Amino acid sequence: MNINSTAPIIYPIIVPTSSTLLSFNFYLVKNQDKLFLVDAGLDSEKCWLYFNHVLKENGFKLNDINGIILTHSHQDHTGIVNRVLSLHEIPVYAHQSSLDRLARNETFLNKRIDFFRSLYSEMGCKEMGEKQVKLLQKKAKQNQYQAIKAKILPLKEGDRIYGFKVIETPGHWPDHIALLNPESGILLGGDHLIQHISSNALIEPDELGKKISTLQQYERSLKKCKDYALTVTYPGHGEIVEDPKELIKKRLNGIESKSEKIRKIISNKQPCTAAQVAQTYYEHKYDSEFSLVMSEIIGHLYRLEGLNKISKKQKNSEWHYYSCG
Ligand SMILES: [Zn+2]
Repeated sequence: MNINSTAPIIYPIIVPTSSTLLSFNFYLVKNQDKLFLVDAGLDSEKCWLYFNHVLKENGFKLNDINGIILTHSHQDHTGIVNRVLSLHEIPVYAHQSSLDRLARNETFLNKRIDFFRSLYSEMGCKEMGEKQVKLLQKKAKQNQYQAIKAKILPLKEGDRIYGFKVIETPGHWPDHIALLNPESGILLGGDHLIQHISSNALIEPDELGKKISTLQQYERSLKKCKDYALTVTYPGHGEIVEDPKELIKKRLNGIESKSEKIRKIISNKQPCTAAQVAQTYYEHKYDSEFSLVMSEIIGHLYRLEGLNKISKKQKNSEWHYYSCG
C-alpha cells in the first residue's frame, strides 16, 4: 500500500423509513481532495433535510461537492439529483446502460411495457398480468417528472473515478454498479448487498427490450465481489455491512435453497406455469405483491433452466414447466 494514501472518508446519510427497507442510505464521500455524493435517496423533503444536515455537520457546503455517482437508476437512489443540480451544476455519473432509464426515454419505456406484456402472458398470469401492464403504462406517464435532467457521464467496468474502481454488478438491476476503493477495501455497494434482507434480482429487459436471466447475473456479481479484498460495504438500505464476505456466502446459499424449493414444487405439480408456481410458493402474496413475486419465480425458473434442472414446453402460448429427473 502507498504510505501516502489515506482511506476515503465516508459520511453516511441514513434516512429512516417504516418500510422493510429500514432506511434510504446515500453517502457523501471525501477522497483524493474530491467531495462527491454516491446515490441521492428519494425525492422527498426528508431526504433533502438529512442531506443538508450531514453537509453542515461536517463543515461542507453544497458548492463543495464535485460530482454525483449513481449505483443504479432506481428512484430511491436518484431522488435529490435534480434538486442538487438546480442549485449547483456538477457532473452525474452512472453505468452506460442506465442512460435510457434515467432519462425515462419514452421509446425504451414502451419497449419495457411490451416486454412485460408478453412475459406475463407466456407465464400464465392472465388478468393479473394485464392489470400490472396497465399499471406500468400509467406509471410511465405519471413518473416523467423523475427524469434526471442532466447529461449523464457513462461509466463501465474498470473505470476509475475519484479513487474508486467501477465494478459492474448487474442482477438487482441491469445497470447496477458498485464502487471499490482497492487500498482500503471499502465498497459502496448500492443495493447489491443488504444486511437485513436479500436483494431482489428483479426481472427486467436489457436496453433493447430483450430478456435477461437476472438471478444468474446476480449470482455472478456476488461471486465476483467475493474475490475482492472487501473490508466493509456501505449499502443502499439498512445497516453497514461489516462482514461482506460472510453475507455474500449467505446470499449465495439462500439462492441455492430457494431454487431447490421451487424445483420441488415443479416436480410435484408438473406440468405447471410460472403463475401456478408463484401461487403455490407465495399464496396470497401472489395478488398483493404480484410483480415482485413473479420476478422472484421467473428468476428462479430461468436459473433452473440454465442449470438444466427443469425444462419447458409451450401450450396455448403459455410455458409449462417440467422437472428434469
Ligand atoms: Zn434498487
